[in-house]
Amino acid sequence: MKREAFLLPRGIYLDGNSLGPLTHAAQAAVERRLRQWQHGAVNAWEEWFALSERLSPALARLLGSHPDEIITTGTTTSNLHALLATFYRPSGERRNLLATSLDFPSDLYALRAWADREGGRLRLVPTRDGHTLHPDDLIASLTGDIALAWFPTVLYRSGQRLDVTGITREVRSRGILIGWDAAHSIGVMPHTLHDDGADFAVWCTYKYLNAGPGSPGGLFVHRRHAALRPGLPGWWGHEKESQFAMRSEFTPAPGAAGYQIGTPSILALAGLEGALAVFEEVDISEVRSRSLQLTEALIRLADEHLPELILRTPRAPESRGGHVVFEFPAARHLSLGLRARGVTPDFRPPDLLRLTPAPLYNTEVELEEAVAIMRELLNSGDEVLDEPLVT
Ligand SMILES: *Cc1c(COP(=O)(O)O)cnc(C)c1O
Repeated sequence: MKREAFLLPRGIYLDGNSLGPLTHAAQAAVERRLRQWQHGAVNAWEEWFALSERLSPALARLLGSHPDEIITTGTTTSNLHALLATFYRPSGERRNLLATSLDFPSDLYALRAWADREGGRLRLVPTRDGHTLHPDDLIASLTGDIALAWFPTVLYRSGQRLDVTGITREVRSRGILIGWDAAHSIGVMPHTLHDDGADFAVWCTYKYLNAGPGSPGGLFVHRRHAALRPGLPGWWGHEKESQFAMRSEFTPAPGAAGYQIGTPSILALAGLEGALAVFEEVDISEVRSRSLQLTEALIRLADEHLPELILRTPRAPESRGGHVVFEFPAARHLSLGLRARGVTPDFRPPDLLRLTPAPLYNTEVELEEAVAIMRELLNSGDEVLDEPLVT
């Protein structure tokens, strides 16, 4: 859709959900901010001061929210900590946190630390097959002891997409707060966080948004919580007009902006600034359609040519995120073989091969080539491909 906007690495890049590639626009934006640093030094802060806030309208369009509900700051994990510090207030019977057994570990570390601190427990929605979640198990876990539920929009391993709208409704109807980790969905599908009524959410910007390694994360706080005081305050979250009055009392900026803690990295924000310019030129629902086309094509090619691989991503389009995962005992060797042949996949121990056909730059031809290379590797008679790697 926008292949010409990218400076792609050589070969076939199928790992854009881990680290999105560089765009011309991100490169130019970082260079521009570097020149401002060179020529303006401290004076350039005038230009940089509200850079995070200026990125909010473009992000709000991707997340289905109002700009004041969004801020770019911290990382996925540190933003989750900041939200838990604000929203997790065990009271009465409702003392526990709920997440899923298939969550990204960092989220679980944060949630468990807060449960320990507050004398609650972290409960986990079970998985029946080790890869996906069943909606009935999710709903059954919404019991009277839960204060706050935290779910991923798309599971980082299997690529299962959860029904954010429907689940948010179910969770809220039981008086439970609901937060979403959108790290694996932002930039590859539309969201409707505000209308869904989600309480809060976080994401990173270095995956499908292509903002660069370690680029800043973001958070969403629904307008109905705008009057809450952020639990982890810092001077960058102070009301902007009086931030430099340096008062000892913290007056939070209205909305999500109050959740900023310290001085943002301007060079890292510049990467996001440029990367978002590419998204301004596309319709995110068309990005989703293209993504579904490509994941569909990949699944079809694998069905036909790679029967040894077990598909672990749901086949139903509405239950698929932007990546596709196959289980294979020698996935690690297959992944190394692909790399040696110029294809960049993603290996998840012990036996998963994760492939991401990114809608903005990958093509069907690339998928055909990658699958053909996999077939050759599997045919090569290389016995390591018959055995799991012992580590
Ligand atoms: C990528 C990812 C993270 C990464 O957290 P950072 O704090 O940005 O390093 C966290 N959660 C999920 C679900 C992810 O996919």
